[in-house]
Amino acid sequence: MCRHAAWLGPSRSLASLIFEPEYGLLPQSYAPRMQRFGSVNADGFGVGWYDPSRPEPVRYRRSIPIWTDANLRAIADVARSSCLMAAVRSATVGMPVEESATAPFADGSWLLSHNGRVRREAVVPMAPGSESACDSAWLASAVFARLREGMPLAQALPLVVRAAAEADPGARLNLLVCGGAELAATTWGDTLFAHLGQGVLIASEPLDDRSGWQAVPDRNLLLASPDGVLVTPIH
Ligand code: GLN
Repeated sequence: MCRHAAWLGPSRSLASLIFEPEYGLLPQSYAPRMQRFGSVNADGFGVGWYDPSRPEPVRYRRSIPIWTDANLRAIADVARSSCLMAAVRSATVGMPVEESATAPFADGSWLLSHNGRVRREAVVPMAPGSESACDSAWLASAVFARLREGMPLAQALPLVVRAAAEADPGARLNLLVCGGAELAATTWGDTLFAHLGQGVLIASEPLDDRSGWQAVPDRNLLLASPDGVLVTPIH
């Protein structure tokens, strides 16, 4: 299981997801506290954020452990946005370790990360193509295809999760998607926490020991927009 985190709210830095909190994604890459599958997330990392100069997010992905990138700290300090995503990766056995297999995956204004695993045969029929042979890249492609058709996030995510789980009952499908002004996440086999305040902070496991982190129950969809947060079961 990889670990991912996202923010939607008043502008803040990427460092606030990775470096500043006691259990940010940097410490979570080598000492995750709640990870059930795998013990370190050393197979790559990726970050994404939105800049007012363009609708597409800016992305930076590497296939090396996050703690070995000496340039990331400065980038993360100045990359500020009202919508942020970051992920660290523990590659599933058999999956390639390369940048194109590393979240966040992107299409247009969308960013997507996946915690979990799924048999590729369960997803390939739903996806038009994939930038990598990685299962998560195929899943991303299946979600993006529906978003490109204009399907709302609230429909596209449960639809893809349900179909993938039906074709592969052992699949773990925690997805996280950002669109600049909205954010959505699914729980299907792994943990997810939300912290609500001035904005919405989402993470596979809490980034710090502050009170207020709420566990999102399994098999649910979390939708966040500037208007608030909604959690509904995925049937
Ligand atoms: N299956 C995905 C990969 O190989 C995600 C792995 C994970 O969540 N650890 O990258």
